[in-house]
Amino acid sequence: MSVTEQTAAATEELEVWIDQDLCTGDGICAQYAPEVFELDIDGLAYVKGPDDELRQQPGETAPVPLTLLQDVVDSAKECPGDCIHVRRVTDRVEVYGPDAE
Ligand code: SF4
Repeated sequence: MSVTEQTAAATEELEVWIDQDLCTGDGICAQYAPEVFELDIDGLAYVKGPDDELRQQPGETAPVPLTLLQDVVDSAKECPGDCIHVRRVTDRVEVYGPDAE
């Protein structure tokens, strides 16, 4: 992705979800962005929203606050399971994560 595309993506509303089938439970994401990611009692990571409730349905998303975007993007890059997906809310196109162009 080019710098221009990254800048454009950063100004749009984004949401994030985790594919728990691939999560290794190492907790890297929860270290990078504990406001957005949390390990549950099952040992897997889930996203959570401003209400602090975990989104536990498969593919369920939480909003990415702009102030936490870099931490969320770093989580997606470092995720050993390659299972953190960040996408645009408007067209659901993945902008960071294993399916991003
Ligand atoms: S970084 Fe990836 S593999 Fe590790 S706990 Fe978070 S979602 Fe799971």
